[in-house]
Amino acid sequence: MTDRGVVRVLTTPNRHWVGDGFLVRPIFAEAAFTEALSPFLMFDWAAERTFPPSATPRGVGPHPHRGFETVTLVYAGEVAHRDSAGHADRIGAGDVQWMTAGSGLVHEEMLGGDVDAHGGAVSMAQLWVNLPAAAKATPPRYQAIAAAAIPTASFDGASLRVVAGRLGDLVGPAETHTPLAVLDGRVARGGVVDLPIPAGWTGLVAALSGEIDIAGRRIAAESVAVTDREGTRIRIDGVAAESRVLILAGAPLGEPIAQMGPFVMNSRDDLIRAVEDYRKGRMGSIPG
Ligand code: MN
Repeated sequence: MTDRGVVRVLTTPNRHWVGDGFLVRPIFAEAAFTEALSPFLMFDWAAERTFPPSATPRGVGPHPHRGFETVTLVYAGEVAHRDSAGHADRIGAGDVQWMTAGSGLVHEEMLGGDVDAHGGAVSMAQLWVNLPAAAKATPPRYQAIAAAAIPTASFDGASLRVVAGRLGDLVGPAETHTPLAVLDGRVARGGVVDLPIPAGWTGLVAALSGEIDIAGRRIAAESVAVTDREGTRIRIDGVAAESRVLILAGAPLGEPIAQMGPFVMNSRDDLIRAVEDYRKGRMGSIPG
């Protein structure tokens, strides 16, 4: 086992509203949509924020996606989802939604009715995971992963929920198109996590809150450590009283990435086709 070093730390001072429901920090910053992070594309983090009640629904109205997967992790409050494939769901705290846009769909992502009715705290993360060229035209798929279905691994002063991939004997419930792992958890001060990772894989550790050390490098809240691809182990040390971390590991796709707004394809021609297909209604519409 060789411990991985940190080759780069990503963060941004910028935040922006997605619709009127989610104030997010895009913490992959300038490395988003590059091979350096493949198969992971983009990561929006919405720290906890308390919303007042509202007579009108808030969030992001109908919009398309094609060519990749959106993974939504809810930490507080809830996200209400509907899409053109007929799925309607509420993602509560601790739940994960793994949505394969594939050939294309239209969906909406709203704050839940409880937050509209009574006000309340909302915190979530949305990760975009690329699909290999051979799977970009796969039919849309929806995996609703309830908190209770996610196994938890315990470490000395830390715990990690296995959303996707394997950790020891634990297997995450999310089915993925390429080999990858998504681990979500907490590290206490003095807690230590030693994670095996295959050589050659991308290995990213996001500190969502708190503060951690990776191979002696301090990683502040709302930033992402990019580790080297040679080592076979990532060591995380908890520095703050409690840090919330999200660990992303996966085999890089090694394919061209062409992105425009909500579409992620392999070429400019693919993107032009995606825009045309959406405009012509070929990605469907939300029923009702
Ligand atoms: Mn979306």
